[in-house]
Amino acid sequence: MREPVLVPRLQPFTSTIFAEMTALAVRHEAVNLGQGFPDTDGPAGMLDAAKNALFGGANQYPPSPGRPELRAAIARHRLRYGVEYDPGTEILVTAGATEAIAASLIALTQAGDEVIVIEPYYDSYAAAVAMAGAERRVVGLVERDGRFALDVEGLRAAVTDRTRAILVNSPHNPTGTVFTRAELEAVAALCVKHDLIAITDEVYEHLVFDDAEHFPLATLPGMRDRTVSISSAGKTFNCTGWKIGWVCASPELVAAVKAAKQFITFVSGGPLQPAVAHALDHELPWAEELRTSLQGKRDRLAAGLAEAGFAVRPTAGTYFICVDVRPLGFADAAELAWELPERVGVAAVPVKVFTDHPDEWKHLLRFAFCKRNEVIDEAVSRLRKLR
Ligand code: PMP
Ligand code: GLN
Repeated sequence: MREPVLVPRLQPFTSTIFAEMTALAVRHEAVNLGQGFPDTDGPAGMLDAAKNALFGGANQYPPSPGRPELRAAIARHRLRYGVEYDPGTEILVTAGATEAIAASLIALTQAGDEVIVIEPYYDSYAAAVAMAGAERRVVGLVERDGRFALDVEGLRAAVTDRTRAILVNSPHNPTGTVFTRAELEAVAALCVKHDLIAITDEVYEHLVFDDAEHFPLATLPGMRDRTVSISSAGKTFNCTGWKIGWVCASPELVAAVKAAKQFITFVSGGPLQPAVAHALDHELPWAEELRTSLQGKRDRLAAGLAEAGFAVRPTAGTYFICVDVRPLGFADAAELAWELPERVGVAAVPVKVFTDHPDEWKHLLRFAFCKRNEVIDEAVSRLRKLR
């Protein structure tokens, strides 16, 4: 066989940092604050609804755009932001946000197109742009006024006559930044001016803290019909393994994304779809409690990391907190991340793996706080030994 067998455009993507760090955590029995997944279950009513669907015969292919009651529930949920979507033509259920992002890029961009991606970026974006055959153009967040801010000037400078789409993730993984209305207005202005498609990753839409607020880009003037709004149930209802995600967009954009999606998975998660419909309709109070509890966990882990000697960056949303490792005498957070499970029994993820500019981001390490308090406390007590 010819070597290597993997096509060049996918060669940079042979493994994921999450799989690698979780494997390392398991090997060393480390507390895993690397991969972001909760260690408690979602609302009991949602789990019951899944059980009832599973034993109630919902085990064959759902309709290709998703079960009608789930699409209706997604439309009702989206209405909370004041944007109306027709469940018949403007909503598509996907295998998590990951498939929604990949299918959108495959359907809407191709060789010769550029996709603007904000750095650091969730790892699947680069791989999905590559699968589409397009090219990514990254614009880095900048540390300003005590937060990671959008570099609006940089964004303007990144648009070329080949730019087709911009991928916007807020609340943002890995930094925990939540874009302000002014930042999103700047993105919207660029999209309108240059006739760009926006693809938004809003999987942490409910997980915003303090006075931060999530604004869907699609709510801004001129954006509804050029935005593919993507979210998923995993983070809102502690069911990251269910992989029920969705796309809300104009009929033209949804039809395009569906053209790709239907030949990737066709459909998935049949009996889980009615359970997520139940959750969107009835379990948002549960999600609000989750939000409050996560805010407390953020504070708990932030205080512990500061005590352990890291310089903690603020986080306004998501599961994640970033720290600067330099005050502890380390120059490269990735070197530390690879040693950490064996050395003190904690796993974390280096931010530079989510970038095209590793030197600029090498001092930052990401910890997940979506864990039980005793797990966070154990991690902190282990990390104190680093001094
Ligand atoms: N986008 C971001 C920013 C994420 O952090 C994640 C995963 N945690 C995903 C997308 C993937 O979502 P899903 O599990 O629904 O595919
Ligand atoms: N989104 C999760 C994180 O950022 C992990 C998802 C995955 O393992 N692919 O940690």
